[in-house]
Amino acid sequence: MDFMKKKWVMTVIIIGCFAVSGVIYYHNNKTIDVFSSMEGKTMWMLCCNSKCRASFEIPQKDYFEFQKENSNPASLGAAPMICEKCKEKSAFAAEKCPECGNVFLPNSITGDFADRCPECKYSQTQESRKKGQ
Ligand SMILES: [Zn+2]
Ligand SMILES: [Zn+2]
Repeated sequence: MDFMKKKWVMTVIIIGCFAVSGVIYYHNNKTIDVFSSMEGKTMWMLCCNSKCRASFEIPQKDYFEFQKENSNPASLGAAPMICEKCKEKSAFAAEKCPECGNVFLPNSITGDFADRCPECKYSQTQESRKKGQ
């Protein structure tokens, strides 16, 4: 009986190891996919320096590579990037409103859609949900 129990425990451990390595393998593959899907894509950055407020576009890949290297695991927020204009570490990932062209930080309106434009109140998420209904 004891032997059977031992064998069972071993089987569980072996299956567990396979499952873990499978997840790691899958995870690595997924990361590569995410990076290749960013190829050629750009994203908007907004400088939070009140004297600057510059907005500029950077390659999506650069942003994620920067975050991977510079973000602090202890804090949930993204690491600020250097602003192209004022050279301060105060640029954050932003959204560009397709309606009025305003560049703003997502989640600027609490409890609303993250991409709600604070200028004209347009939200692409809301629009696409409306169409889906
Ligand atoms: Zn700036
Ligand atoms: Zn807008």
